[in-house]
Amino acid sequence: MSGLVDKSLRARAEAVIPGGMYGHQSVGLLPDDYPQFFSGGDGAHLTDADGRRYLDLMCAYGPNLFGYGQPQINAAYVRQLEIGDALTGPTALMVELAEAMTAMVTHADWAMFCKNGTDATTMAMMTARAHTGRKALVLAKGAYHGAAPWCTPRPGGVVPSDRAHQHFCAYNDIASLEAAVAQAGDDLAAIFAAPFRHDAFIDQAPPDPAYARRARELADQHGALLVVDDVRAGLRVARDCSWSVLGVQPDLSTWGKCIANGHPISALLGNDKARKAAASIYVTGSFWYAGAAMAAGLETLRLVRETDYLERLQGLGMRLRTGLHDRAAAAGFGLRQTGPETMPLFLFDDDPDLRLGFAWSSAMLARGVYVHPWHNMFLCAAMTQADIDAALNAAEAAFADLKRDAGSLGPVEKLAFLAAR
Ligand code: PMP
Repeated sequence: MSGLVDKSLRARAEAVIPGGMYGHQSVGLLPDDYPQFFSGGDGAHLTDADGRRYLDLMCAYGPNLFGYGQPQINAAYVRQLEIGDALTGPTALMVELAEAMTAMVTHADWAMFCKNGTDATTMAMMTARAHTGRKALVLAKGAYHGAAPWCTPRPGGVVPSDRAHQHFCAYNDIASLEAAVAQAGDDLAAIFAAPFRHDAFIDQAPPDPAYARRARELADQHGALLVVDDVRAGLRVARDCSWSVLGVQPDLSTWGKCIANGHPISALLGNDKARKAAASIYVTGSFWYAGAAMAAGLETLRLVRETDYLERLQGLGMRLRTGLHDRAAAAGFGLRQTGPETMPLFLFDDDPDLRLGFAWSSAMLARGVYVHPWHNMFLCAAMTQADIDAALNAAEAAFADLKRDAGSLGPVEKLAFLAAR
């Protein structure tokens, strides 16, 4: 079970926070022994409210790219905080950051800054509708684009009109993409695409280049805009929009999470075609012009340009993937590792109710490694080969636990356990 401090915080939270917690950390989404509350992070490590330290393979669900508390990025943030953060208007940093992002992202001629990924995806939708004067969106079923009424994955508080004008296709399925575009007909405003299939609970899938090219063609044929939602994958696939590796350039791309290494800022980037429409929509927020996160963003982008962080992440991810494959196989478990090596997701074969995944994740946690049983994880540049090797040692022991637990069950329970595999 979780520690005493965590337990007490949970009890207090139940009184003053609806459901005790909301969103992606809602109570019950993770194994019971997972901590709900944390006290700090340093580099690749996370400390929970009870003072237990973990190698953190979630990286705050993405924002941690260069390490928690990365000194140069934090120094830039703190410096600007002292000079001035939320002011009556933006600082020069806003222009500098827009220049840095458009210089880095091939398709982008302009940038607008906001706070969360949902702000950016909602602005992308509005820009496409303003550009075309049309309403319909084509989206891949199951793809996450945020938590506003038009895209939140749960039905609470959402009315059918919030979801009107949406047509769904299956990711990487060209025929279903064409069918959804046909359904949208003359009303097509935008095709939204995740850079790869990174839905929760299922195997991740790389984008089929033919699917990406067809999305580009269909958007062009219909005078609609193509949007790549890079909020999650941005900067862990490329130092550019993630579909640039396929040679496909969207009209709009959305960014967030790690672009300032965890400091709060997100962005909508676009090409000249979409500039007038982007200027026409009214979007803003009390904190959107604040300078400190922009200073952190500039420093993060400098590290993106000037270091080999991406190649190191890929190398570490490959070491983790190969090592885990060998250890799972040696223990007799089928572990599917999907997604880019920098953003892996692990699912066990024959584990429809995630019983094995939950048990293995708990066993990892007990050994000081925070993994997620059904969401993609993230590597960060503060990780070292020694960290990966520690994770692999923990994994070996966690697989042994799983095997032993199957062995210690009575025959009926054992059958159920094995059937669940
Ligand atoms: N799009 C994608 C692909 C995401 O992964 C997320 C967040 N997980 C969002 C949009 C929304 O971002 P935020 O939570 O910052 O609003």
